[in-house]
Amino acid sequence: MPAPAATVMQAPADFAACSGCGLCLLVCPVWRRTHDLGLSPLGRAKALQYGAGAAELAASSASCTLCAACEPVCPEEIALLALSLELRRRVPLTAEAQAALARAGELPAPVPLAQASAAALLLPERALRQRPQTLARARALLGGISVCADEGADIALALEAGAPVATARLERFLQPLRRAESLVAADGLLLRHLRHWLPRANLVSLGEALSRLPALRRGLRASDLYVIEARAYHADYQRLVKYYDGLRAAAGCAFNLDLQRIAIPASARSLAQRLGLAPVDDQVQLNWILQGRAVTRIVVESLEDGAAFAQVSKLPVVHLADLADDTHS
Ligand code: SF4
Ligand code: SF4
Repeated sequence: MPAPAATVMQAPADFAACSGCGLCLLVCPVWRRTHDLGLSPLGRAKALQYGAGAAELAASSASCTLCAACEPVCPEEIALLALSLELRRRVPLTAEAQAALARAGELPAPVPLAQASAAALLLPERALRQRPQTLARARALLGGISVCADEGADIALALEAGAPVATARLERFLQPLRRAESLVAADGLLLRHLRHWLPRANLVSLGEALSRLPALRRGLRASDLYVIEARAYHADYQRLVKYYDGLRAAAGCAFNLDLQRIAIPASARSLAQRLGLAPVDDQVQLNWILQGRAVTRIVVESLEDGAAFAQVSKLPVVHLADLADDTHS
């Protein structure tokens, strides 16, 4: 049986270890935008040390994009993503946020899994499901992998908002996944939870799975901006930092996640942005990452990120799976 969703990220007590070093500020997109310590991981940890409660920190935890960029840099190894999630979970959603969550989480009637016994399953993001050609290409590139009918978008959104997930719904989602030996997941936050729910499954992000393929690697150019899905990356940072460094060395392209500049588009937003209750800042993010770079194309692992950057850029935006199609210029 899976652990109940609410216990996936245990309430971390390690905020007590925060020394106030400020390293997390250097990578935090919220700090870069606001320079407001109260909205930073440092601010939350220090406020908790001095006795603040979840309700007092509600605006702060809601501002977090859950990108997890702060975790790898924290010398005290504080579980900062889990801290934001737990703070959210402890404060009831406003009526406005609840209504927005209900709207955003609306799903078509669940479709039965086509091949419930498949050894490998692809869990696409909703945006990828809505681009059948790209989904079919990704599927073929991954050896004809079966596509899971239920992408769990409502579960991912509820977890993100700190809202409860009904045990029956979670079980319906996980039941077919338990039969798979390997899972390719497009949503980085869901992937992090799936590692907890399905500890024996071999789990990998869609971006990593596709970018390992020589046919797609050959399609990358030195003048590309390669947009890594931030949440999947930071969920497995110690391994993936070496992996993506190798990709950078081979292709010569720029990344949206690097030590100097981090730009995180749609796959990591504040809760209000995610629920459509606050404006997004994709133009700011894109300008920040492109400044001084001769980039001619944007390659995305997540179509949600692709849609965000396509809105604010004149550059062509291509999903990684579509690199196998040489009609893209
Ligand atoms: S998860 Fe991202 S947005 Fe949230 S505090 Fe960490 S770096 Fe900042
Ligand atoms: S990096 Fe870690 S120890 Fe340093 S201020 Fe941030 S949360 Fe505290």
